[in-house]
Amino acid sequence: MQAHTAPVEGVVVDLRHWIGGERVASERTFADVSPIDEAEIAQVAAGGAAEVDAAVAAARAAFPAWAALPVAERAAVLRRVAEGVEARVEDLARVETRDNGSLIRSHRRGVMPRVALNFRAFADFAEQRLGHPDLEVRGHRERISYDPAGVVAVITPWNAPLMLATWRIGPALAAGNTVVLKPPEWAPLTASLLADIMHEAGVPAGVFNVVQGTGLDAGAPLTAHPGIDRLAFTGSVPTAGVISKAAAENIVPLSYELGGKSPLVVLEDADLDLAVDIAVEQFDNAGQVCLKAARMLVHSSLVDEFTERVVAMAATLRQGDPRAEDTDVSALISRAHFEQIRGFVERAIADGARPLLGGGPNDELGGLYFRPTVLVDAKPDAEIMTEEVFGPVVTIESFDTEDEAIHRANDTRFGLAATLVTGNREAAERVSAQLNAGTVWVNCFFVRDLEAPFGGNGRSGIGREGGIWSFDFYTDIKNSVFSP
Ligand code: NAD
Repeated sequence: MQAHTAPVEGVVVDLRHWIGGERVASERTFADVSPIDEAEIAQVAAGGAAEVDAAVAAARAAFPAWAALPVAERAAVLRRVAEGVEARVEDLARVETRDNGSLIRSHRRGVMPRVALNFRAFADFAEQRLGHPDLEVRGHRERISYDPAGVVAVITPWNAPLMLATWRIGPALAAGNTVVLKPPEWAPLTASLLADIMHEAGVPAGVFNVVQGTGLDAGAPLTAHPGIDRLAFTGSVPTAGVISKAAAENIVPLSYELGGKSPLVVLEDADLDLAVDIAVEQFDNAGQVCLKAARMLVHSSLVDEFTERVVAMAATLRQGDPRAEDTDVSALISRAHFEQIRGFVERAIADGARPLLGGGPNDELGGLYFRPTVLVDAKPDAEIMTEEVFGPVVTIESFDTEDEAIHRANDTRFGLAATLVTGNREAAERVSAQLNAGTVWVNCFFVRDLEAPFGGNGRSGIGREGGIWSFDFYTDIKNSVFSP
């Protein structure tokens, strides 16, 4: 029989599901492999339709009591969850790093504190925003209420699994829903630690459930389940297409956060130091970031110096084991993903693109380490310019006029984010207004306030979350009209 727990970087992780406030095993397991050295770190319970049924039933059973709690009481529980996360930042950081190969220093300083904030901030927002003053309309009194929707299914990807899961779970629970989470099979472990933290914080049994397993075995039955009321999915466009069909049967409202092919536009009057810094940031998490500015569009008067400086600076990035504090770029998530990235780059080069840096695996490190890669001279309609390449690969191209920059920036089926660097205030206003993206950063990058709306246009997603927009999705908004 498989062990129910495994020590991962000195932290004991339960490898079973968390359903109705109990650990539940499955007959089958799947191998969890670390990208750092391709070592198997655990055999995790492989759930299927039966576990999904049990989790949805537990979530349904727990819903009425959780929904009926005064919002201040739910908020108090979620603040204890935030404290539990804060108390275990180091454990969560170690396990996440081993599991998905992302940098431990990012987890310690930014990602895990942000996970705590996903609970604390939405606890605050729920207390502040879920009430609405009655309206007086032509003698009638109208009361707008935000009723929790019911059971929320949350399906998440591997690139920032705990952060992305809690960004959905925080508001869903704060609004009074119960949750079934299906974590990514490539990085399933921190979801299990979150279940421990929820339990210790006093989250009632069935309010939060985790079903581990693959997309096909555990994800698909969850998306098609008639007992779910909302589906929050973060992942790739092809999976979103499959899921949409499954969810359509039950008319379940969807919130999708999908891929991107975001531009970095550097105008003629840009602060070049800032533009270069932002460009080199794109290799964070080995480029496995949905918001990454993969296409760099630079004014022709700056492009040579920009390219030279980006290549020189990116060449100094230290690639290696993400458990070391001084590592800048780590490995890709899996062998299959590594081969996919290699294929994209090889085809781009065969199609005329020139690598000024990288262009292939890091042979010194071997394994799943792919070198930071800067490509120039790619054709505008080449695959490398149009498809999402979820790895440490960027392209640089030049433009002459502002209109050309805007046209090329918007020439994509995606629309997640766009970054603009300019020293001209009017150009900042004019160009940002014309960029087609859910988030536009001007002279900054990756600033994400939990109160602001977040989401993508086109293939990058459906809907917006953050602040009140999260509650719009996770509640049924009701208008009760009282006659005088
Ligand atoms: P993926 O679509 O392969 O998998 C995401 C999740 O869906 C996993 O948990 C997987 O098990 C599950 N899944 C797969 N097939 C399923 C099915 N048929 N039914 C139900 N569930 C299924 O994506 P990935 O490779 O894990 O993640 C990378 C993608 O996520 C990239 O495209 C990236 O841009 C995107 N992403 C978007 C955001 C955002 O906020 N917009 C954030 C992070 C990642």
